[in-house]
Amino acid sequence: MTQLSLVVPMYNEQEMVPLFFARAEEVLRGHFSYEYIFVNDGSNDATLNTLKKLARQCPYVKIISLSRNFGKEAAVTAGLEAAAGQAVVILDADLQDPVELVPVFWEKFREGYENVYGQRIDRSADSFFKRFTAQAFYKVYNKVADFPMPYNAGDFRLLSRRAAQAVAALPERERFMKGLFSWVGFNSVAVPYCRRPRAAGRGKWSYWRLWNFALSGLTSATSWPLKLWTYAGMAVALFAFIFAAWIAYKKLVWGNPVSGYASLMVTILFFSGVQLITLGVIGEYLSRIFTEVKRRPAYLVDEKVNF
Ligand code: UDP
Ligand code: MG
Repeated sequence: MTQLSLVVPMYNEQEMVPLFFARAEEVLRGHFSYEYIFVNDGSNDATLNTLKKLARQCPYVKIISLSRNFGKEAAVTAGLEAAAGQAVVILDADLQDPVELVPVFWEKFREGYENVYGQRIDRSADSFFKRFTAQAFYKVYNKVADFPMPYNAGDFRLLSRRAAQAVAALPERERFMKGLFSWVGFNSVAVPYCRRPRAAGRGKWSYWRLWNFALSGLTSATSWPLKLWTYAGMAVALFAFIFAAWIAYKKLVWGNPVSGYASLMVTILFFSGVQLITLGVIGEYLSRIFTEVKRRPAYLVDEKVNF
């Protein structure tokens, strides 16, 4: 039986295929028996052909090619579902997740850990803005989510077979993997590491995509933002009640004429804003509920090689 499956999602990584494979072979040889599961996430460059060339030479190179680009979460899910090993390691194709750590993860697995995650101790490869936003995200997430998530831990990790199967079997379409990994639990341990800059090719994450990714994480881990507005509404209504009493009092006691175009405008604009934000929050959840109820599969497979 294969001991370790390496799940590697690939989207337009033609330069990285040979680099990644050479590096991984160099490091993994002799530690344990392993297989590669390369998931081609609808690349529109030569990634698939390059992978197929490899697969012809090595039967332990397996390919799942998706019918289009479904995103990294879906690609990883496809890989987890297909993995045959006693343990599964998920890593990026761009060598940002050091392959040398895989034997270390494996040792931890042998010691009985089932959820061994790489934890970045140094994010100097990222820009200041990215570091700052990432830090803020973890802070907010851990404040609001029902299940805390370790800081600076990404998708780079080893899962035991049953943990991997559990993650793959979670039925949701909105797959915020880091959240799901911590949700399944099991005996977990962190392995600190330094994340490297990308070896070749380009990163696929724009800030807009990251923002939506963060929203997806937060909405899938919380429901209180939906309920908050009841109380906000009550507070506002109470305030309006007191304010009305104050205006009536002023009129009766001092006979002040009605005044205050400016305050009226500010109040209207402020509460219009609050109402739109409320609608927006509901919309965020609603759109995700819509995605879930459609019950479409997380990905479609076009082709499998060496399975
Ligand atoms: N990836 C993917 N589908 C996508 C985007 C990315 O499978 O739609 C893969 C990509 O090929 C790489 C990994 O996910 O192996 C991480 O992507 P990237 O390096 O762009 O992300 P970053 O390192 O900036 O988080
Ligand atoms: Mg990368």
